[in-house]
Amino acid sequence: MATQELEFKGYALVDPKNFTDLKVTAFKPKTFQADDVEISITHCGVCGSDLHTLKQGWGESHLPLVVGHEIVGKATRVGDNVKDIKVGDRVGVGAKIGSCMKCRQCKGEYENYCAKGISTYNSEYPDGVVTQGGYSTAIRAHQQFVFPIPDALESRHAAPMLCGGLTVYSPLVTNGAGPGKKVGIIGIGGLGHFALLFAKALGAEVYAFTHSPRKMEDAKKLGADHVDFAKEHAGMLDLIVSTMDATPQLPLKEFLTMLYVHGRFVTVGLPDADEHLPTLHAFDLVPNGCFIGGSAIGSKKECVAMLALAAEKGIKPWIEELPMKDAKKALEGLGDNKVKYRYVLSQDLV
Ligand SMILES: [Zn+2]
Ligand SMILES: [Zn+2]
Repeated sequence: MATQELEFKGYALVDPKNFTDLKVTAFKPKTFQADDVEISITHCGVCGSDLHTLKQGWGESHLPLVVGHEIVGKATRVGDNVKDIKVGDRVGVGAKIGSCMKCRQCKGEYENYCAKGISTYNSEYPDGVVTQGGYSTAIRAHQQFVFPIPDALESRHAAPMLCGGLTVYSPLVTNGAGPGKKVGIIGIGGLGHFALLFAKALGAEVYAFTHSPRKMEDAKKLGADHVDFAKEHAGMLDLIVSTMDATPQLPLKEFLTMLYVHGRFVTVGLPDADEHLPTLHAFDLVPNGCFIGGSAIGSKKECVAMLALAAEKGIKPWIEELPMKDAKKALEGLGDNKVKYRYVLSQDLV
């Protein structure tokens, strides 16, 4: 049952030519259904996807559009089918808010890979309503995409984990990061900083790859055991997770030679649509029997496990907190690569 009437409004893109100039705009939420949770938002992280979408880098967006998919708040209404969430609970939402719940992926706890998945913003619900993200007062999401936040985690720390954290946690655990494994992380930005924190927390020996001297220092503080591009890494690493989204510049062949037998290279960075991966030859893959793959966010099961690990190990992301009205500052800082390492916006509309 509703405890209060929420007003749905947020900082929206209205003119793609001025993509950081967001205007407070009211929007229509989806029709509330029995599997839905309605959330009054307190915090929202600022993800690279927000910037790509606002800049129209992934194609023309809906207008007006509110971005933001690292959302934490309080549940204000829960549908009759909702099992593990009560009104008043602290909960979060990541980059998806719905899927078909019927396909093999959905039934196999891979709902993040459902072909009919609904993105948290710039997507459409089955009722035709455009999805609007977390730089806003409130959101409604299917319970499978709503994550309880452990008491030990602060909301501002949990928020950026729900896309940035989960996007790297999932390929780390899926591909065996743990004690006795050597794991390389490419790119020390929002995603890469989480990858270092989680790879270390999972017990792996961690190699950070960055050319920035400032980031080399940070990488050590974040848990990296090694920070360089030394030649002697050839044939050593069990897993490399690449968070870089400037893929034409990625020295992919060099990284593949660093892999141990059957080692895996997994990319999670998503560049603009016209930026392709470098060309490869079969000779780049055969000598060490390596694999190349990708990974898309993570499932609820993985998210719950990630939040439990963060609570248990006291993992705190490096964040800069700003009021939501300063989204422009955060987006510009992210675009200029000045962020250390995630902006989190706090609610100022209610
Ligand atoms: Zn994201
Ligand atoms: Zn499905």
